[in-house]
Amino acid sequence: MKVVIVGSGYVGLVSGACFSALGHSVVCVDSNEQKIETLKAGGVPIYEPGLGALIKTNIEQNRLAFSCDLEGAMKGADFVFIAVGTPTRQGGSEADLTSVYSVASAIALTADDGIIIVTKSTVPVGTGEALEGIVRAARPDLVFAVVSNPEFLKEGSAIEDFMKPDRVVVGCDLPWAGEKMKALYEPLRAMGVTILHTGRNAAEVIKYAANAFLAIKISFINEIADFCEAVGADVAEVADGLGKDKRIGRAFLNPGPGYGGSCFPKDTLALLATAQSHAVNLRVVESSISANDARKRGMGNRVVRALGQSVRGKTIAVLGLTFKANTDDMREAPSLDIVTSLQRLGARVRVYDPKGMEQARQYLRDVDYTADPYQCATGADGIVVATEWKEFEHLDFVRLAALTKHAAIVDLRNILDVRKVEAAGFELHRIGSPRRE
Ligand code: NAD
Repeated sequence: MKVVIVGSGYVGLVSGACFSALGHSVVCVDSNEQKIETLKAGGVPIYEPGLGALIKTNIEQNRLAFSCDLEGAMKGADFVFIAVGTPTRQGGSEADLTSVYSVASAIALTADDGIIIVTKSTVPVGTGEALEGIVRAARPDLVFAVVSNPEFLKEGSAIEDFMKPDRVVVGCDLPWAGEKMKALYEPLRAMGVTILHTGRNAAEVIKYAANAFLAIKISFINEIADFCEAVGADVAEVADGLGKDKRIGRAFLNPGPGYGGSCFPKDTLALLATAQSHAVNLRVVESSISANDARKRGMGNRVVRALGQSVRGKTIAVLGLTFKANTDDMREAPSLDIVTSLQRLGARVRVYDPKGMEQARQYLRDVDYTADPYQCATGADGIVVATEWKEFEHLDFVRLAALTKHAAIVDLRNILDVRKVEAAGFELHRIGSPRRE
């Protein structure tokens, strides 16, 4: 089957590469010419483990191509996926659907009868209906369907998540389109993946409800971690005890500096905005948003408290900048709040990240970018671990301690081995561990 994907970012590129690996013929389209040129030249404009190799194989098999020309790509297409960004509207909290609508208008002008237009972008409930209206107004006689097929992949393990998802959600109100979607996903179904067919509105709600639930889970364990610190309990033990309960589950019970990334912050806000427009209160979601905002803002002071002294005039080394490990994505990363609040408190900040340095330069001013963790820590009065990169677990802590002015680490991700780090002479501060006076 021929699949066109519009928007070749984290979701569009991964979906395109994976659909082609499943045997479909795919063209990934993007309006960013530089991105398409990079892809055509064999490069990958984002960091996602395994993506480069998957793209290369499928280009060689003639199943995957890249283009800026939507009209050309649409010739003979069975499906066109919309995978463009849906950021928070500037000055508001709802999703900005400008790109989604403009892509839908362009599709309407070029589509052939029988086309299935699929929203992979995360869009508020009712968007499918709105897109249907846009296409119908432009082409009253066109035979088409608008289907919701939200994406649940996680950056850093996106290919695995696409190929072995917990479920694929297909939201469709037209039986003929549902049958075609079934055929599209048949290779995954044959591998045992559950394809969940729902109404279109339900599919749109599922995506936001899933992200809101995960955000709430994170905010919850973060508050429990604060409670653990105050009462002398270890949050890791608490999370293990909680997680053994099948109704709760252990995933997403790792405390940290607050959730970030391109999805949870914007999607919780957008869900709230949509609910408000329907006069519905989502108080639990609202609380999670404000708890998370406060948590991110409070991280600078937490570092100061852990180090036991003002950071004014001190040098702090921040290891890890991306919002999570195994990505180069800096959108809404908690490190941004950590660095800026440390700067506001008078610290000089040095930073290092394995993959996020290039993107970080668009966000962070007046920091010293360093080449590796050791250079970052040299002469520092304290080290902050802000992202859970595996390589930080395996540092030579004896060497690191010797390089610092004051051997203290604030591990905001609880990834470091306490015994190893303390044996190297570090004073280690973790989230949700009993306070050591
Ligand atoms: P992204 O910013 O990485 O990619 C979006 C791409 O769309 C960009 O390359 C941009 O140039 C392109 N684009 C914008 N307008 C266009 C237009 N008119 N025509 C053609 N291309 C256009 O975004 P992303 O992270 O891939 O997210 C895309 C959507 O998927 C969002 O709605 C997001 O909420 C959702 N989503 C993201 C993730 C994730 O982990 N990143 C996971 C699930 C769902």
